[in-house]
Amino acid sequence: MSNLTTPKSPAIANTTEANLDSNTLKYQIVIVGGGAAGITTANQLLSKDKSLDIAIIEPAAQHYYQPGWTMVGGGVFKLEDTARNEQDLIPQGATWIKDYVTQLDPDHNVLLTQTGKRVEYEYLVLCPGIQIDWHLIKGLKDAIGKDGVTSNYSKDYASYTWEVINNFSGGTALFTYPNTPIKCGGAPQKIMYMADDIFRSKSQVSQRTKVMFCTATAKMFAVPEYCESLEKVVARRNIQVNFKYNLKEIKAETKEAIFDFTTDQGVEEVSINYDIIHVTPPMSAPDFIKESPLAVKSGTSQGWVDVNKDTLQHNVYPNVFSLGDASSLPTSKTAAAIRKQAPVLVSNLLAVRASSSLTGKYNGYTCCPLITGYGKVVMAEFDYDNKPVSSFPFDPSKERYSMWLLKKYVFPWLYWNRMLKGKLFEGDRLKFLRG
Ligand SMILES: Cc1cc2nc3c(=O)[nH]c(=O)nc-3n(C[C@H](O)[C@H](O)[C@H](O)COP(=O)(O)OP(=O)(O)OC[C@H]3O[C@@H](n4cnc5c(N)ncnc54)[C@H](O)[C@@H]3O)c2cc1C
Repeated sequence: MSNLTTPKSPAIANTTEANLDSNTLKYQIVIVGGGAAGITTANQLLSKDKSLDIAIIEPAAQHYYQPGWTMVGGGVFKLEDTARNEQDLIPQGATWIKDYVTQLDPDHNVLLTQTGKRVEYEYLVLCPGIQIDWHLIKGLKDAIGKDGVTSNYSKDYASYTWEVINNFSGGTALFTYPNTPIKCGGAPQKIMYMADDIFRSKSQVSQRTKVMFCTATAKMFAVPEYCESLEKVVARRNIQVNFKYNLKEIKAETKEAIFDFTTDQGVEEVSINYDIIHVTPPMSAPDFIKESPLAVKSGTSQGWVDVNKDTLQHNVYPNVFSLGDASSLPTSKTAAAIRKQAPVLVSNLLAVRASSSLTGKYNGYTCCPLITGYGKVVMAEFDYDNKPVSSFPFDPSKERYSMWLLKKYVFPWLYWNRMLKGKLFEGDRLKFLRG
């Protein structure tokens, strides 16, 4: 485990003398991104030490519970059920800077924002989430949101997904998965199983419908135990799965989806006509991270914030930490993972600050509640080794109604009332979830 303990620039350590001028601000701890990771981390830091001088830089006025967007697409939640005002989530004692970070200069412990602010920090926590690269699929930006082209990966289209599914009169329904890391690797399948249930509930629709999963991956899921469960689900539903199909273009006028299909002989172009299509777009680290000295320079993790997978501390700059979707942590990107990452980060950041050794260690825990139909969920929890690590005393690879109830009622409540408030972490009293 790395233990880099010396901040690079002690010159700006006295951060309480903030605001040299209106455009230069100084804080002990600056958190970039007020999403799931940023708000959770800020609250946990302040619960350990109320005197910390923390700023959260976040441009959005609304905070979304994104795991709820699958339920919005499936007609179970309304989009507004998944939203709260960001202002109401910023912890007391933290400063909200409503702005975008545009540039990072870790050699001088400073960053720049879109409105021209210069923000200096003693410690930096990077959690600006993942960037959705809609533009990498030709024709998608113009096609999406109408004529049966949709995606749960945006608040702008999740409600439209339900419209598309519910009004479908039959034909070919495509669901895609790209060749990049994405947030919540199970979400592209979850909406497909809910849609299939809706189609089957209307005999005239189901008779005329072919459901296809076109995925750039070579298997249904990375963890063998959950992969096996999902193979049974697609077989039972008679869903056609096309492995190694990577969507590259939508031709809206002719309703064609164009894929690169990788075979042993090379890559061949395949066109499939769709009546409706749910697209999971390619994703990557936010551009300002990719372009910064804080990104991994090469290899499969290129572009993500370069952190130690155990400690969440930056591999080069000891006063920088990262968690959540923007980090290089080699696990599935979920809010559930952040629940386990945040206490590790907080413990290690405070240890660096106190010049003591880092003891917090993250094991890669993540969780994807795989909805396999209305009322059915496989609670896929696993770690860095792709080994199931269940919070419950029964076989986690089975579809269960009880897990559906957790997904529908308990998890949203836990998110807003425990996790974001910094309360759901190791040692928490809620023993029914794995500690
Ligand atoms: C359809 C869907 C289904 C999902 N299902 C699940 C699920 O079932 N279970 C689960 O655990 N997870 C699920 N997730 C994933 C989960 O929502 C994310 O992993 C989680 O929100 C990541 O948290 P984060 O804080 O890293 O990023 P986010 O929550 O996305 O927050 C990042 C924040 O950074 C801000 N930001 C971006 N750029 C900048 C910048 N330049 N400067 C300052 N701020 C910036 C953004 O405005 C945003 O508020 C799902 C996601 C989707 C879309």
